[in-house]
Amino acid sequence: MPELPEVETVKNTLKRLVLNKKIIDVDVWYTKIIEFPSSTEFIKKIKGQTINDIKRRGKWLVFELDDYFMLSHLRMEGKYFIKSAQDELNKHEHVVFKLDSGEELRYRDTRKFGRMLLIDKDELTDVKQIKELGLEPWDEALTSSYLLEKYKNKRLPIKTVILDQSIITGIGNIYADEILFLSRINPLKVTSKLTESDCANIIKYTKEVLEQAIELGGTTIRTYESSEGVHGRFQNNLLVHNHVGEKCPNCQNIIEKIVVGGRGTYYCKVCQK
Ligand SMILES: [Zn+2]
Repeated sequence: MPELPEVETVKNTLKRLVLNKKIIDVDVWYTKIIEFPSSTEFIKKIKGQTINDIKRRGKWLVFELDDYFMLSHLRMEGKYFIKSAQDELNKHEHVVFKLDSGEELRYRDTRKFGRMLLIDKDELTDVKQIKELGLEPWDEALTSSYLLEKYKNKRLPIKTVILDQSIITGIGNIYADEILFLSRINPLKVTSKLTESDCANIIKYTKEVLEQAIELGGTTIRTYESSEGVHGRFQNNLLVHNHVGEKCPNCQNIIEKIVVGGRGTYYCKVCQK
């Protein structure tokens, strides 16, 4: 599943390729991808709109058009391709945006879990999918007092709570293990017991880990064919995740794997007391 760094890379790549191009028509071959409005309305409204900017909010791509925002979530397998109108349609290409450049922006999704919404410009913050999201890792409002406040009544292990997208958005399972290792926090620690300095570390290393992943994604991906490419590259730099039975890079103790809240969790018992 694409995580925040992959979505950020897709966003940056798409910006280079489709910015300022006008959508002259759309084909929707699998209507369930369009969550809102109906696919007929979606097609009607989007015709003639120019892609002025592309942003990211959580794992949503936010296409800024003239009169609307188009939100796109890749879920498990969603990918975008730029193709020529002459290229044969792949059976997994469910939404095809025809651009005034003669190219086509095609949304491919083998699992069909991805979703798109087209919403009026003034309604972005009212949309449930966006409203539910917590702070972005680089939001200035993300401070240790914000986290202390959010964490103070949480009796669950921090490993579970750090994945809660309504507090900080964009931390997936792999990144969570890396962040807690660098912060020297035991994944099982009850969240309400974290100190202000624990919270400051979580913020610091969240930014660091995600920035590094974005950077590696940016150097790997030339076209945006593969979101796995980003993932694979970043995996070479992981400190604890997927390293069960290997030595901790910090203290040489053996890294262990446990299950916390149903998620595979890697940590060093010595460094993360
Ligand atoms: Zn260690």
